[in-house]
Amino acid sequence: MPPTPQEDPDSAVITTDKLSKSFSVGGAQQHVLRNLDLEITAGSFTVVMGPSGAGKSTLLYALSGLDRPTLGTVRLDGTDLTALGEDALARFRRGHCGFVFQQVHLLDSLTVLENLLVVGLLVSRDRGALADRARSLLERVNLPERDWTKVPTMLSGGEAQRVAIARALMNRPAVVFADEPTGQLGSEQSAAVLDLLSDVHADGQTIVMVTHDVRSAARAERVLYLRDGHVSHECSLSGRTDQRTQALTSFLTEMGW
Ligand code: ADP
Ligand code: MG
Repeated sequence: MPPTPQEDPDSAVITTDKLSKSFSVGGAQQHVLRNLDLEITAGSFTVVMGPSGAGKSTLLYALSGLDRPTLGTVRLDGTDLTALGEDALARFRRGHCGFVFQQVHLLDSLTVLENLLVVGLLVSRDRGALADRARSLLERVNLPERDWTKVPTMLSGGEAQRVAIARALMNRPAVVFADEPTGQLGSEQSAAVLDLLSDVHADGQTIVMVTHDVRSAARAERVLYLRDGHVSHECSLSGRTDQRTQALTSFLTEMGW
């Protein structure tokens, strides 16, 4: 068996080659991503920053197969996403990508536990194993057991986002993609969600996250700055929280943030 990405920390789990994405708006082409070359290392925590409208979400959608590039290729976990048909792409995505969005998108007609199970059932029929995994993930995100049978509308925004993270992890994805996951949360709940994402990363999970928030971004090891359709600059972060925040703040100041 080849090593899984988590066991081989030097391997790239995502590689793009001249990734380009354009939208046709009122007959005119808007070139949002232009010839973007990028490698994401397995097990890394990468943040994408940049001005509003720079194409951060567009990039995340292209990397994860939620949307297709106009030109260029995206390889994820050894598979060229651009070569897959619609059904194969959807299947691949379910098994290899976890998603956490600003809006939680849990199914309100199901309990918390069932929300995890339905995602697991997309890739497995082993209900017993799925139930065990769902329970252990809900423990992992520190959701008390009394909340597992609640419907999502009974949870706070922060609790619901923690459930969304558990759901994103359900099928042991190669990469968790998070698009402004704390955008709707207050500072205390944001910190809890980011602590959780940091813990999940410490367990070996590859994470690619879009955020506007410097303190959130300082959790990452690598910050990509998206401008003019490509990664114009990037910065590596290490050391204590205050050192990382300081390094990132000076980087962003240089970017004219
Ligand atoms: P960001 O997440 O950095 O704020 P987006 O990736 O959401 O930016 O959008 C980048 C640009 O692409 C924006 O100008 C947006 O209007 C445009 N865009 C994104 N999605 C679509 C779409 N489906 N159709 C047309 N234009 C789009
Ligand atoms: Mg966005």
